[in-house]
Amino acid sequence: MTTALLTHADCLDHHTPRGHPEQAARLEHVLHALEPLPLMRVTAPLAAEDDVLRVHPASYVAELRAALPAEGIAKLDADTFISPGSLTAAYRGAGAAVRAVDMVLGGEVDNAFAACRPPGHHAEHATPMGFCLFGNAALAAKHALDHHGLSRVAVVDFDVHHGNGTQDLLWDEARALFVSSHQSPLWPGTGARDETGAHDNVMNLPLPPESDGAHMRRVYEAQVFPRLRAFAPELLIISAGFDAHADDPLAQLNWQTEDFTWLTQQLCDLADELCDGRVVSTLEGGYDLTALAASAAAHVQVLTERSA
Ligand SMILES: [Zn+2]
Repeated sequence: MTTALLTHADCLDHHTPRGHPEQAARLEHVLHALEPLPLMRVTAPLAAEDDVLRVHPASYVAELRAALPAEGIAKLDADTFISPGSLTAAYRGAGAAVRAVDMVLGGEVDNAFAACRPPGHHAEHATPMGFCLFGNAALAAKHALDHHGLSRVAVVDFDVHHGNGTQDLLWDEARALFVSSHQSPLWPGTGARDETGAHDNVMNLPLPPESDGAHMRRVYEAQVFPRLRAFAPELLIISAGFDAHADDPLAQLNWQTEDFTWLTQQLCDLADELCDGRVVSTLEGGYDLTALAASAAAHVQVLTERSA
């Protein structure tokens, strides 16, 4: 048994303007850092239309397709851009998350990491946002519920930004628990404690600027882990953003690489206890290339140690 790494070269063919923090070099650095690890390397498939349409309307996909430039880079909003290869990259990202769920639930691997871009957790029902086009974590959760027939799936998002998109896509989904820890105040400005979902199925944990990994550990131990135990998920999906690292240029939290190791170990311990260790992790943000690569490698190394 093993850990799957799902990725595709198409994810390097999504281009943003020079100087934009969400750049192809991010994924190149992550993949380079993962090279020494014992992983089952899997070519990410394109997502099936049904999987995308579980969370986004067909009209939204059509709008994205219509917005694709013939060449160069087009702007969707102040932060979010698309180039000719972007929609294919987004389908690979969604397909990687869905295939990861299939592999873990099918017993082909113990756990999986989907390393694709653009990221996903800011994309809302019909709105691209924050560098994101498709809500990969949410559509993977929906696939596990609707296609595999699970009753309870938890999504834990430790990206430094609030996972507003995942929250939007799972707001009405009583079978999913969405937990987001994020710096507050910080873009996108959502993620207050009183945003709790239509079925008390959303948990937001705002973290103050300049707070560190010790603060994060206390918050997770006091609030997240008991909530996950009470929910008893059959699958744990992680929205793994690494921009809470102290070196990240887009935020002001002070986590270190070992904090990502600790958090991954704790989440894997809970998954062992609650759902036979079934963990699917999908790459979100992280914009200091060195910190991103080291933190992602630390995260995936824990996954490989669990599957040994
Ligand atoms: Zn982020």
